[in-house]
Amino acid sequence: MALLSIVLPAYNEEQNIANTSKVLSELLEEQHIEYELVYVSDGSRDGTFSEIQKAAAGNPRIRGVEFSRNFGKEAAIFAGLELTVGNAAIVMDCDLQHPPQVIPRMWELWKDGAEVVEGIKESRGKESLAHRLSAGLFYKVMSGLIKMDMNASSDFKLLDRKVVDVLLTLPERNTFFRALSFWVGFRTEKVTYEVQERQFGESKWSFFSLMKYAVTNATSFSTLPLQLVTVMGIVSILFSIILFIQTLVKYLMGTSVEGFTTVILLILIIGGFLMLSLGIIGHYIARIYEEVKGRPKYIISKRTDEH
Ligand code: UDP
Ligand code: MG
Repeated sequence: MALLSIVLPAYNEEQNIANTSKVLSELLEEQHIEYELVYVSDGSRDGTFSEIQKAAAGNPRIRGVEFSRNFGKEAAIFAGLELTVGNAAIVMDCDLQHPPQVIPRMWELWKDGAEVVEGIKESRGKESLAHRLSAGLFYKVMSGLIKMDMNASSDFKLLDRKVVDVLLTLPERNTFFRALSFWVGFRTEKVTYEVQERQFGESKWSFFSLMKYAVTNATSFSTLPLQLVTVMGIVSILFSIILFIQTLVKYLMGTSVEGFTTVILLILIIGGFLMLSLGIIGHYIARIYEEVKGRPKYIISKRTDEH
């Protein structure tokens, strides 16, 4: 019988573990789906891991690990995938914002031959307008960068064992799970879902952590920003040629060349371009630096199956 693994990254989610485990196991048992729940506590500072241990003690289908510190959701997802043994794996948030009711549909699509089932957000739940706008912009830019339509995509998805194994062989440290499942290809189906209210606790994302996430992912996934630097260079060269011709013509016609403001403006514009370009290049160097160091994506400090 086919086994479904469910990967649940959890950071300071002590209030959610028991409830989520109960909801998922009841649903899957009712649907007669063979399953395992794999929790990854991402260096939680609260009782998340002991909650996972409790859940594991009460149900042999539940397992989990704890990271030595907070490594981020991406690392937690990969650690979880590495631990799975199922024929397919679903990654979902452990705050039940990804509705479990969608799982049976994903499972059916997998049985019908889908190798990736993308969870697409139908509504973004109760998010602020600012969040909605910035998320919209981020997905537009990312879709352009990776040249695939990943609008409203999320980390809620099902992957066939084949796809999981491919993802696990990718050597890079900076992973962007949401886009990688597009990048690897395979036969993909979609299911839409409504983002639910968070069950307990609060969101771990701040404006700055989202900005950092956006920049890291854009630079680890695409070299388009670097090409943009070249374009900016060409634009300023063209601009200066035009200005040179204009100045020359004025000089030949005998009109005096006025220009204090122009000079200041040009210095500012070119200075701005240069600093922006250096910043973009700097981001890539930072990515290369991290990859070259070759440190592991995460460090596991505890497991539920050891004492
Ligand atoms: N998460 C994680 N590590 C982190 C931050 C979040 O594993 O550093 C997990 C978190 O426990 C949850 C999921 O990622 O299961 C989504 O996080 P959250 O609900 O805070 O984000 P939101 O739903 O508000 O986008
Ligand atoms: Mg959430």
